Amino acid sequence: MPASSYLGRFAPSPSGPLHFGSLVAAVGSYLQARALGGRWLVRIEDLDPPREVPGAADDILRTLERYGLLWDGEVMYQSQRHDRYQAVLESFARRGLTYHCQCSRARIQASGGFYDGHCRDLGLTASGSAVRLRLTNPVYHFEDGIRGHIEVPGALATEDFILKRRDGLFAYNLAVVIDDADCGITQVVRGADLIEPTVRQIALYQLLEAPVPEWLHLPLALQENGLKLSKQNHAPALSSEQISQTLWQALRFLGQQPPTELAGENKEALLQWAIRHWQQHKIPTQSQILSLSRQG
Ligand code: GLU
Ligand code: ZN
Repeated sequence: MPASSYLGRFAPSPSGPLHFGSLVAAVGSYLQARALGGRWLVRIEDLDPPREVPGAADDILRTLERYGLLWDGEVMYQSQRHDRYQAVLESFARRGLTYHCQCSRARIQASGGFYDGHCRDLGLTASGSAVRLRLTNPVYHFEDGIRGHIEVPGALATEDFILKRRDGLFAYNLAVVIDDADCGITQVVRGADLIEPTVRQIALYQLLEAPVPEWLHLPLALQENGLKLSKQNHAPALSSEQISQTLWQALRFLGQQPPTELAGENKEALLQWAIRHWQQHKIPTQSQILSLSRQG
């Protein structure tokens, strides 16, 4: 297969071990990259120490290896990129694109849940405040490779969102865009829970004058109560035994049709099959309820 300029990535947060929902995102982004002859990077999004579980980052990487999802190059860690995030923040500040905000969560909730720009022109200074983007280039819609044209509510699109939190932590939207832009990611493949922030991220690409990647949002694995299978909801860690069976289920979840006999085969054979037969257009748009027993 000819090498292509496709560059994809998987960007887990180390807030717990990989579970079936995050495996789906890993497998989907991996196969999309490999099927297109591209490269696939892994980035640990350890931006939020209080939410981090000690050892989770290594555990995630070992699990990816155990599942045969081998990445290219070095793993990037957001915890090592603070200087870069700060430099971008300062360049935005010099361009008049940021301001400090001291509004409480309660005040924002009381004004409808979206920030109303209250501190925009108050000239507040640093201590104990959040840094917000003075958003002059709102983005209202984008094209998703699976779901087509996606529009978001105006209140979401136009909000002066946070770039650096009151507690001094860099915001997810800022870090993810700087990292993906610096790496030259050409297509972002991730879970559908991140559809909404995409418009904010596109606005940041524009401010950085970086090429905007393509977007592909994968269906989510839901619990029976309709909530996303997630670390916060105590989704079970992936089995370290039934690897090819679990991979087989992730492929089915992504709308692919791996032959039944491959479920009992080795993971390499299954992944090779999946790369050769990957059909992006078969990925469902609906998130699906996963009965946990299926992970067996
Ligand atoms: N770190 C994010 C998460 O685990 C994913 C970020 C992304 O793919 O853009 O939910
Ligand atoms: Zn404010």
